[in-house]
Amino acid sequence: MTDLHPFTHDIPADRLPALLRAMPKAELHMHIEGSLEPELIFALAQRNGVAIPYASVEELRRAYAFTNLQSFLDIYYAGASVLLKEQDFYDMAWAYLERAAADNVVRTEMFFDPQTHTARGVAMQTVIDGLHRACGDAEAKLGVSAALILCFLRHLSEEDAFATLEQALPFRDKFIGVGLDSSELGHPPEKFARVFARCRELGFHLVAHAGEEGPPAYVWSALDVLKVERVDHGVQSTKDAALMRRLAQERIPLTVCPLSNLKLCVFPDLAQHNLGQLLDAGLVATVNSDDPAYFGGYMNENFIQTFAATGLTAKHAWQLAANSFEGSFVDAPTKALWMERLGACFAQFAGR
Ligand SMILES: [Zn+2]
Repeated sequence: MTDLHPFTHDIPADRLPALLRAMPKAELHMHIEGSLEPELIFALAQRNGVAIPYASVEELRRAYAFTNLQSFLDIYYAGASVLLKEQDFYDMAWAYLERAAADNVVRTEMFFDPQTHTARGVAMQTVIDGLHRACGDAEAKLGVSAALILCFLRHLSEEDAFATLEQALPFRDKFIGVGLDSSELGHPPEKFARVFARCRELGFHLVAHAGEEGPPAYVWSALDVLKVERVDHGVQSTKDAALMRRLAQERIPLTVCPLSNLKLCVFPDLAQHNLGQLLDAGLVATVNSDDPAYFGGYMNENFIQTFAATGLTAKHAWQLAANSFEGSFVDAPTKALWMERLGACFAQFAGR
């Protein structure tokens, strides 16, 4: 699956942006609440009679100048406050899924944060039903395979995570896994050891944010204590050679989010992003949009800006798309089908 495609050398650099747009790909790290565009926030606020502390779409967009993860999270939670009814969750997910389809995303595994909603009195069923209905429609109407991963907010307690899991279990056929997100520093993976062990017993896929702002030690404990199958972000891993070797050997996917890293100042500029270093070390790194409405771009924008800034080539494009399929939680025949489509796309760009 990871072998270099034979046609990558035949694709001229000036065709790279078109190739990046056209190639089929999977998105493995995006928070559906982070896809709320200011226009939709205002439309839902009006529909639901919710007051928000911004006078206009423009004023809200101007507030998206973040200095770190926390300054983003403050606005992110304010934006989510307009979501009240099942249709709101559907509309939010549908808007993202249409954007994903336009970017030739064939598979998306969308995170959602139920605690952000249940804490405001919205029922778990309202959240999950709306998102799940959009996933079904995406498959039927857009040809996009979509699944949900429930994330626990790590700035809250493990007890709260357990209560959230309990509320979600009646709907367990509507999500495929659990993750861990929100403020990383000061909230190490160990804090959620017991709830992840329980989710593992229940047969859920396991992922966690680690090594975004936090140290390599958090990536180690995500692997060893939480026993995650993928690491979300993980870009701090390059500071630890032994960790890099392990991630490569065990083929643990890293769901990297370049524009998010840029906006939250994890790297001073995109040219200094370590995506190329992760790929060249043999890691299963992928490109993802994280919170696309807030961080300046959906999937293809992440690919195009990162390649332009770092000088990555068609060879890397092939590897990133192949990695995204390898890292996705679908069966082997489906992955093989998408790899065939990827090969056909590259052959076309190479003029074969
Ligand atoms: Zn994230």
